[in-house]
Formats: sequence, C-alpha cells, structure tokens
Amino acid sequence: MLDLSAQRVLNIWEQGALLDAEAKTQSLLSLIAPELSMKALADLVLGERNKNLLELRQQLFGSKLQAYVECGECGQALDLEFLIEDFGFSSIAHIPEIQRIENGNINAKIRLPNGHDLEALESVKSVNDGRNLLFSRCVLELYRDDNLVVLQDLSEDELSQLELLISELDPRMEILFDLSCPQCSHSWQSPLDIGSFLWREFDVYARELLENIHLLASTYGWSETDILTMSNVRRKYYIERLLQ
Ligand SMILES: [Zn+2]
Repeated sequence: MLDLSAQRVLNIWEQGALLDAEAKTQSLLSLIAPELSMKALADLVLGERNKNLLELRQQLFGSKLQAYVECGECGQALDLEFLIEDFGFSSIAHIPEIQRIENGNINAKIRLPNGHDLEALESVKSVNDGRNLLFSRCVLELYRDDNLVVLQDLSEDELSQLELLISELDPRMEILFDLSCPQCSHSWQSPLDIGSFLWREFDVYARELLENIHLLASTYGWSETDILTMSNVRRKYYIERLLQ
C-alpha cells in the first residue's frame, strides 16, 4: 500500500481538479513516479502509462476492479469484477518506443503513442480525425515496395491494417475486459480508460479526506495544518471515535 500523506493527496487533487483529463492522469502518474518531471511523464508510451496507472490503483485501493455494463445485444445488466493481476501487465518487459512494421509490401517506422499524443487528440472532433492525427504524429517513415510514400497514398484497407499492427506493438496499449453475456451468449471486449477511472476514485478519496478535516476542525477547533500533518492512523482514530 502506497502510504501517501494527506497533504500529498490534497495537493495532487487540487492540482488536477481544474485541469483536463490528460493533465489529471499525469498528476496521478506523478504519485507513482515522483522522480519524473511532468514532461517525462507525458513522454511515457501508452502501455507504460497503463502499467503504472494499474500499479498505482493496486497500491491505493487494491486489486479488485468492479464495473457495470449493459450487453450491447440484449441490454442485460452485468456486474463485473476483475483483478488487476488478470491483465498480466507487470510481467511484460520494456517495449522499445521506436519499432518497424512490415505488412505485405508496406514497411513503416513507428513511434509508439504517448501522453503528448493524447493531449493533441483532446481537440479532435471525430474518430477518423483522431486516427489521422495519430498516424501523422506516430508514423515516422512509410515505404511501399521500398519507395517512400505518404499516408495519403495508402488505401483505406492499408490504413486499417496499419492501425491494427500499431495496436499490436504493445499489448498494454489498451486495457480490455473480455465480456460474455449469460443471457444471450454475446461476447465482446470493452476498453477501460484507467486514467479517468482512477481519477474518479481519487476524487472521492480526497473529498472524504476534506470532509474528515471539516469534522475534526469544527469539533475540536484544530487548524487544517494540524489535521493534515497528523499521521493517517491518528486521524482515522479520531474520526472513528467521533462517529461512534
Ligand atoms: Zn446479452
């Protein structure tokens, strides 16, 4: 369990609360990798980020993830429970940021997407524009039959193939739940945006902390600084005592 001081929790929460989703995720990442600058955190490739965020979730709130989804075929409500270990991300070794892909007569040099790419995607309006933007940033070189070509030279099929191959370069790039409906046997995969998921949990945690500060301050007249510098164990004891 990551032992965060109350001051640190509230600093990160305060810093992230007014920012966009990508900056919130980077604030969370700073908890698990405090030695990295904000730029270095944004440099992390998506797979590395997901691995770190799952590890942070495990250290803050445990391994069990619970979710609620509805079957896309019959509408049946499903309550799901997964363990972070089930994704197997921690056993995957470092994956190089720059890689080459070969598919038929197409050969490409690829940079794996990172936090800067997600920041750029925030202003994009459609899935198609998003894909084109990612391609323009992450496809560094592109050849067909050893001749240098540009993305616009590729057919829709070739672009789809390229997209699939890029997504397979790092198995941690997307966190996917395997789902199966007991009602109609429909099977599908649902993605988890661990950054937003974890921020929602962290937000609840920070607000509870603020409520506890409010309760202690209004009961005992202690200052916010006094309560924040108190150990987590001692603060918890007073709260339990008050709620008895
Ligand atoms: Zn179903």
